[in-house]
Amino acid sequence: MSQGQLYIVAAPSGAGKTSLVAALLRHLHQLEVSVSHTTRAPRPGEVDGVNYHFTTPAAFQQLIAEDVFFEWAEVFGNFYGTSQQSVEARLAAGVDVILEIDWQGAQQVRQKMPQALSIFILPPSLEALQQRLTQRGQDSAEVIAGRMAQAQSEMSHWAEFDYLVINDDFDQALADLSAIFQAQRLTRERQARVQQARLTNLLASAS
Ligand code: 5GP
Repeated sequence: MSQGQLYIVAAPSGAGKTSLVAALLRHLHQLEVSVSHTTRAPRPGEVDGVNYHFTTPAAFQQLIAEDVFFEWAEVFGNFYGTSQQSVEARLAAGVDVILEIDWQGAQQVRQKMPQALSIFILPPSLEALQQRLTQRGQDSAEVIAGRMAQAQSEMSHWAEFDYLVINDDFDQALADLSAIFQAQRLTRERQARVQQARLTNLLASAS
């Protein structure tokens, strides 16, 4: 059975990560996003089991104790974690899997699975980021300032990632992101596995 590729996609809040990944999933087959566990409350429109597995803090601690997580971290006062078993099952089925996680989780994944490819999505400027965070809702100036500080803290980890994508123009950023996934699927190592039968056939001695 062929093994899928694991990707980490990280970004500061407001960089457009979720929209880009959603668009990418519509473009590419055999690609899925891992559904994380979190202790944060669902936002309007979020569905349990689809956006996240919403979990109580006590249940989350229990999952940590049971060693269920591939990685987990506390982000802005809430806990988030990726189930090891579900990621492994999808990879074993030959599906490429995206982990939408923060820099702390990314560090843990790199340690456990060095072959994971990591992508960091950046906004074009602080002004653009501020504008996007402001447009999101009716948050106070204080809340926005807090989010800007958090975004800068997340962005300070850019150098730990394999690829950087700047989300200035959405379509261009999507094309850039897509190119990373397409190129990985065309590597000799991957093609040798996926195209094994074809390669054998092509090299069969003519009779
Ligand atoms: P949000 O609450 O806005 O959905 O996510 C907040 C932050 O937590 C984002 O940076 C997001 O990427 C990160 N995050 C979401 N799921 C996970 C996870 O399973 N593990 C880690 N380490 N971070 C996560």
